[in-house]
Amino acid sequence: MKIDTYKLHRVHLVLPRPIGDSQVRFTDHWLTVLELATNSGLTGLGFELQQGSPTPTLEHLTVQFECSEWPVLRGENRFSAALRMDRPRGGNVGVGAFSLAVETALWDLMAKSLDLPLYKLLGGTDPKVRAYGSTLDFQLDDDEFRLRLEEFQQMGFRAIKIKVGHPDPDWDLRRLNLVHEVFGKDVDLMVDANEAWSPKETIMRTHLYRDSGFEIFWIEDPITRHDYAGYKILTAEIPFTRINTGEYVDFTGKRHLLENGAADVLNLSGSIGATRAAACLAGDFGIPVSIGNTILELGVHLAASLPECLYLEFSDLPWNRLAKQPVRFEDGWAIAPDRPGHGIELDRDALTEFSQPS
Ligand SMILES: [Mg+2]
Repeated sequence: MKIDTYKLHRVHLVLPRPIGDSQVRFTDHWLTVLELATNSGLTGLGFELQQGSPTPTLEHLTVQFECSEWPVLRGENRFSAALRMDRPRGGNVGVGAFSLAVETALWDLMAKSLDLPLYKLLGGTDPKVRAYGSTLDFQLDDDEFRLRLEEFQQMGFRAIKIKVGHPDPDWDLRRLNLVHEVFGKDVDLMVDANEAWSPKETIMRTHLYRDSGFEIFWIEDPITRHDYAGYKILTAEIPFTRINTGEYVDFTGKRHLLENGAADVLNLSGSIGATRAAACLAGDFGIPVSIGNTILELGVHLAASLPECLYLEFSDLPWNRLAKQPVRFEDGWAIAPDRPGHGIELDRDALTEFSQPS
């Protein structure tokens, strides 16, 4: 089977409300959509996201792709390129690494050529994965935040993650209280500080939350990403809340976290290959993982294939408008599509509507 043509699309999605955390604020998503087609009639579909600033024009994206990735992809039986490992030494490091869009499209093609849903190709047997609603709410006022919570509650979620890390601890407590008002206390409540604090501030805040009646399922990225010594202190000193980290570090950083006893839950997302390698490493340390937001929720296939994935994140973002049949979320579960490949087909009308070549 031969990959013989490709198509790129530059997509601009204006978010219905700003998203963000204690450090950043975004109002737009820029997606690069890649279709790789074979001479046997299969198409693999992959995506890349840029938040905030626009991607280069379609013309520039095309030149870049033609120069770097297309020469490696075109031709006979190139699917296995997604599985290759680079020699991790000297000038070889990172050379020839595929973009997420290419890697995703190749996995989609591999699964389609075997007529298997992607999660089954990855060894999964159950398409259902526990999911949590993630409000990305730091930029929202209390009324808007409550509305978001109510929407997730109506969708059937029984686990929710909110942003904390406001300079005023009372702000955090007010937001936590709103979660209890909407969901009651029978909810897995996670918080994400996005590196807002020092280790000492983290200990003070987690005690404050607890003393104020909030049981926190996990606290995510409370301190700076490479402070392994700090994370080790937090996992030891805070026995009543899991420390979730790893989102901001590469494979080596994840290994350092695990070796230092610096994470209770390892946060993964992005590349299928790198995520599975990191999950395997986490398993060796007896540490469960979680899967963060992935474009068009494709992480559901990863989550369904990992034996120790606690939760998959869902933020209900407009990228799902590009899908004919988006990944389903029901009663707090994500359900991996049982169609061949990753199961996401482009809605051509939506693609036309949101395409912005220049
Ligand atoms: Mg996070």
